[in-house]
Amino acid sequence: MSRLRIGVDLGGTKIEIIALDAGGRERLRRRVPTPQGDYAATLRAVAGLIDAVERELGLRGTVGVGIPGAESLATQLIKNANSTCLIGKPLRTDLQDLLQREVRLANDANCFALSEASDGAGRDAEVVFGAILGTGVGGGIVIRGRILNGANSIAGEWGHNPLPLPTADELPLPACYCGRRGCIETYLSGPSLARDHERCNHELLDAPEIAARARLGDPACEATLQRYEARLGRALASIINIIDPSVIVLGGGLSNLERLYRNLPACCGPHVFSDIFCTRIVPPAHGDSSGVRGAAWLWD
Ligand SMILES: [Zn+2]
Repeated sequence: MSRLRIGVDLGGTKIEIIALDAGGRERLRRRVPTPQGDYAATLRAVAGLIDAVERELGLRGTVGVGIPGAESLATQLIKNANSTCLIGKPLRTDLQDLLQREVRLANDANCFALSEASDGAGRDAEVVFGAILGTGVGGGIVIRGRILNGANSIAGEWGHNPLPLPTADELPLPACYCGRRGCIETYLSGPSLARDHERCNHELLDAPEIAARARLGDPACEATLQRYEARLGRALASIINIIDPSVIVLGGGLSNLERLYRNLPACCGPHVFSDIFCTRIVPPAHGDSSGVRGAAWLWD
């Protein structure tokens, strides 16, 4: 029997499943809406997808699941999940009981980083940082092909660190939903980019529109993106000074801004404690599929 790796991305709005063969090639992919606020229905949906995929392929696979949160090392219960019906639940144990096999769980940003480190933009790199820039800001660290979880299961979670070196126009420090002030996420998420543009220009545009207008030479939109890049450069420099990744792969909706890859090295470099700056900052090779692929790669 050929080896089948099944990955599940358990998101807040959709559950996606992928089956990879022994060589990492995609055999099959499905997605269904996530049952809203219903833990038991969510478990059934995940188990049903896995059952359907295995019947269709006639193979039994390993199962890895990416979640928007983390499993507490102390209690094995889910924490930090924005799909709040998962919080406090023994998700891994419940899935293992339903599926009658060992299940591996990981944070979805960690799955993204693992996917890109395994056979994507960070292939063969010793240290890969995956930086998610979407509705939230998260991240994951993969070292020599393995996810770094950390003592508190939060390794790579840079979004709720304070933005380094805030300038006058970045004050007062914005309040974050997490209870802290000045979090990187409050400057670098997609909604934060739109809010910053609105604050300076009194026009409400989303990130893709701001990027489109900047390309056409709109000076206000160009200035918004330059502020964004300067902030992202400072925020990434503090990551580089600690884990010194060979490759930083950007994910999330804002990773589609092509100019980031051209402009970020000059924004990071001056804040990095080194005479040379050779970290590569690159787009994801697997795009939106990286999270679910990384879940499958939890079994390697
Ligand atoms: Zn925060």
